[in-house]
Amino acid sequence: MGVPKRRMSKQRKRQRRANWKIEAPKLVECPQCHALAVPHQVCAGCGYYKGREIVAK
Ligand SMILES: [Zn+2]
Repeated sequence: MGVPKRRMSKQRKRQRRANWKIEAPKLVECPQCHALAVPHQVCAGCGYYKGREIVAK
């Protein structure tokens, strides 16, 4: 396994971490109720996924 040869300076570490940015959550429109929903998950509004009702209301 690679082992760091030298301690990374605060400046170098902080410069690298300065590129970490928060991102808005990805949302898609539900084809059933046309509300915004998290992709690849059951819609929180209508409980549908892949055209079928998964979670009964
Ligand atoms: Zn929906």
